[in-house]
Amino acid sequence: MTNENDYSGSGGSQIEPQDQEAFLEYLKNAFARLPRDISLILFSSSGQEDIFSDANRRVIRAFRELTDKIVFREYDIDHKEARKYQIDFPSTLLIAPDHYNIRWIGSPVGEEGRTFLETLFLVGMGKSDLSPQAAKIIQNIDTPRDIKVFVSPSCPYCPQQAVNAVKAVVENPGMISLEIIDIQCSPELADQYAAHSVPQTFANDMLIAMGAQPEELFASSLDKLEQQTVFIPDSDAELVNLDVLIIGGGPAGLTAGIYAARSGLNTAIVERASLGGQVATTPIVENYPGFTSVGGKTLVDIMVSHALEYVQIFQGEEVVEIEPGFPIKVTTTRRRFETNTLLLATGAKHKPLGAVGENRLAGRGVSYCSTCDGPLFRRKKVIMVGGGNSAVTEALHLHNIGVEVTLVHRRDTLRAQEFLSRQLEENSIPVLWNTEVKEILGKERVEAVKLINNKTGEITVMETNGVFIAIGYEPSVELAKKIGIELNDEGYIRQDGRHRTNIPGIYSAGDVEGGYKQIVTAAGQGSEAAIVIFEDLINPYWKKQKAV
Ligand code: NAP
Repeated sequence: MTNENDYSGSGGSQIEPQDQEAFLEYLKNAFARLPRDISLILFSSSGQEDIFSDANRRVIRAFRELTDKIVFREYDIDHKEARKYQIDFPSTLLIAPDHYNIRWIGSPVGEEGRTFLETLFLVGMGKSDLSPQAAKIIQNIDTPRDIKVFVSPSCPYCPQQAVNAVKAVVENPGMISLEIIDIQCSPELADQYAAHSVPQTFANDMLIAMGAQPEELFASSLDKLEQQTVFIPDSDAELVNLDVLIIGGGPAGLTAGIYAARSGLNTAIVERASLGGQVATTPIVENYPGFTSVGGKTLVDIMVSHALEYVQIFQGEEVVEIEPGFPIKVTTTRRRFETNTLLLATGAKHKPLGAVGENRLAGRGVSYCSTCDGPLFRRKKVIMVGGGNSAVTEALHLHNIGVEVTLVHRRDTLRAQEFLSRQLEENSIPVLWNTEVKEILGKERVEAVKLINNKTGEITVMETNGVFIAIGYEPSVELAKKIGIELNDEGYIRQDGRHRTNIPGIYSAGDVEGGYKQIVTAAGQGSEAAIVIFEDLINPYWKKQKAV
């Protein structure tokens, strides 16, 4: 259940009871088909309050009601079994220790429930389910890799990266071991690695990724022990033929997918990271019709389930190349597409502040995602930079999860809607007006900020543990630029009012086009673009242009 003061971002389950029963039945059957039993060993501390072990017990009990394949044991952290497995922290859960070295520090709740479910199936199958190209890289790793993935239950990007790591262990258990670490359960370990954003992945104590990666890039980063950013698949990778390929799984792309597929067009969506785009990390949404108040991630889950009724979604794949023409050829990190039309719904990415120290301390206390990283700053001091809807919504979210937040805004009035600004006041969240961040200070992590009052010129240094930045977005136009799509003066994709770009057969929708940048407008643009594509495929305007 949600209410307007609940900024937890969970939003509650929207699954109808009959769907829930069907889903549980589906899970029971899937577990019954697993060839292996799944052993789980929990190490807890019986003497003290241990909310993570309690959560583990609850989650495991729920799964054991679905299957007798889960064999569960629990020991105190002082038991000799703990020494045998070299367990240092309660609550640590060992997953299938008879086959793999996978340990979970914390408990698989929130978004991490998805990781846990997938892990149970992967270890129960004893198969990694990696793409052939990623599997090849992982199989060839012949020296040990000890992976640590830092996650938080409210991070929608984390399951993708944690599951990549689980798959790697299952593919090459002789060489690869894994710890999934919930930063809330083990803030000390997160601190030790200066992992102040999630997901962050280390292998053999070296940082190999900030954020979620497509599995081929993860495999390559794990192999080379440094973050890789480009992966081109072999030329014999799978070929998929389509009428419409949509790049981007935010509200625009998902809506376009529903409309295009319902028009009878063979459609697919490719999304490199988390479905839902910016909405997935918006703590609470209060202006999407039909929902008085809903967690951003919950709204995304509803949209995704709806879209999946009609359209295939390739998630965790990054588009690396587009070749315009008839058909348009698109290569992702995993496969190749030939499509009659292409819709760019690539959205926007956070705008950097440009302050000295920002890049160096990104993930070390500088954060652009309060939903993901906020839990690490409970009972600590942070600043939130910005004065729009995002900054105010996120400052309220941080305040509500127990972070001591101060809003820092460069003017003396907020751009945010009145309704949100009022809540800032009602919650007594301090605001530093007419103030800009000149520099972010700290050696290994954020320690302070140098601020300037742009009215008086006064410079002050304020101690802080974190700097959250929410000063708007920049369009994600790298792919568009690469193939010569025209942009307008503000850097957004230029389109003809019917979502057609300057390249025949290629369209745009959503925040990448600029405009009002609301969830509802992005969805509207997605539906319009799909209708135009449908009409153009029946009566191609590019053929008429050629004839003139
Ligand atoms: P925004 O509305 O563009 O606001 C950006 C804020 O950051 C402004 O207050 C701006 O200051 C400040 N800013 C920009 N550059 C800065 C810099 N270099 N240094 C310091 N401050 C800087 O961005 P947003 O809040 O991220 O929202 C983006 C879009 O999403 C908007 O259309 C918004 O309505 C929408 N949105 C909607 C909801 C919702 O409806 N629930 C929630 C979030 C976002 P100035 O005011 O001085 O320009």
